[in-house]
Amino acid sequence: MGQAKVIDGSEVAARLRQHASEITARLYEKAGIAPGLATVLVGDNPASQVYVQSKARACAGSRLAAFDIRLPTEISEAALLAEIEKLNRDERIDGVLVQLPLPQHIDPHRIIGTIDPAKDVDGFHPTNIGRLWSGLPTIVPCTPQGCLRLLRTVHDSLTGAEAVVLGRSNIVGKPLAALLLAADCTVTVVHSKTSDAPAICRRADILIAATGRPHMVKADWVKLGATVIDVGINAVTGPDGRRRVIGDVDYAAVSAVAGAITPVPGGVGPMTIACLLLNTLLAACRRRGLPDPDF
Ligand code: NAP
Repeated sequence: MGQAKVIDGSEVAARLRQHASEITARLYEKAGIAPGLATVLVGDNPASQVYVQSKARACAGSRLAAFDIRLPTEISEAALLAEIEKLNRDERIDGVLVQLPLPQHIDPHRIIGTIDPAKDVDGFHPTNIGRLWSGLPTIVPCTPQGCLRLLRTVHDSLTGAEAVVLGRSNIVGKPLAALLLAADCTVTVVHSKTSDAPAICRRADILIAATGRPHMVKADWVKLGATVIDVGINAVTGPDGRRRVIGDVDYAAVSAVAGAITPVPGGVGPMTIACLLLNTLLAACRRRGLPDPDF
């Protein structure tokens, strides 16, 4: 048993953000384009507030224009739909992101389905998801895209690799499965009704955990030398009474078995925001008929 290589998501994400900022500057200098991202936050969920703030900060750092739209919890679905239509028509805005979860009385599928697919920088619109599964150019959801980018830092090729994805949510597990399939992996998706998940995970050359179950993946779930990507973000209270964030993977134990592993924090999390900036630049270029930026 050895010690896994640590895949430093913070470092990879910082490089991507720097690259995004250079592309933004070039777009402005050469074509007078100032790409803009609108984030829509409904209500006052504290975790959502933190996410939206960090997205706005990252925009500022990469010189994208940020439009921070805050709406009250009690807003009607019709009024929220009207806000989105307004953003769809707003020429200053290239990306529209609605922070999830939404209040109970609002149907998230209706809201996501109303975002102009060309401005859907989360990549959650059914048109974009359909295009992803069809192998057509699309906007790839940020967290799965971040996972693939991290995998590429340790694998020159993913062809033929056995990949197991733990979790089948629309925002992480399912689009990840599509991306891994497109990268020629053999993909298995494990969920809460799967029998004997550990045995399936042990087959994986690439194991990606996205369940929201703290430290669910143990060392004996992991094949020697496998690459382990931990998407989980779980706030827990430690034995010392302090709050901290841990992943879905028992990091200390799994590090002794895996070949490479992402930490939490500092793994997938920073990649998600970096990919959001890239998606906004991609949307800005495509809307104007410019070639896709190089990243
Ligand atoms: P989610 O919508 O709650 O989905 C969780 C998935 O895990 C479901 O498909 C569920 O199966 C499966 N699951 C739950 N318990 C399981 C078990 N015991 N065995 C096997 N599968 C199980 O969560 P999500 O939105 O995909 O997020 C997953 C985690 O990633 C969370 O910790 C979240 O905070 C984190 N996350 C991180 C980022 C980031 O930027 N790093 C972004 C998004 C999410 P069923 O479908 O059968 O219920």
